[in-house]
Amino acid sequence: MSSELDDLYQEVILEHGRRPRNYRKLEDANRHAEGMNPLCGDHFNLYMKLDGDRIEDIAFEGSGCAISKASASLMTSAVKGKTVAEAEELFGRFHTLVTEGPEKVRLSELGKLAALSGVCEFPTRVKCASLVWHTMKNALEHQREVVTTE
Ligand code: ZN
Repeated sequence: MSSELDDLYQEVILEHGRRPRNYRKLEDANRHAEGMNPLCGDHFNLYMKLDGDRIEDIAFEGSGCAISKASASLMTSAVKGKTVAEAEELFGRFHTLVTEGPEKVRLSELGKLAALSGVCEFPTRVKCASLVWHTMKNALEHQREVVTTE
């Protein structure tokens, strides 16, 4: 990977870590899941508003390292407005990217998520980067974790 690309990726991560997108509690969420990575201390709550099979809105709150926060920011931006199937497909691609490396995926299909490709060289960082994706999948799959809004 060229160092220019490396710098660009670094910048995206820092920027999203500093000013995370979709960082709030979603008051009208109908899905919620909590994600924890005790190894690093990352801890997030993920809120989702699912309309049929479309992710109408998604947001998160919590604390963690720059990688986990940037990943949450990038993930929520990437799946907002997508169908559940599209989000799961993207998770598959992202998972391949961070566990097997950027040469195993088409980076153009990952958009800004490609910024996290460097973590594949650091197994502990892979957990930080994937935490919020696993949390998203939990929120989609476990209907009993539906948040009731009184
Ligand atoms: Zn972390």
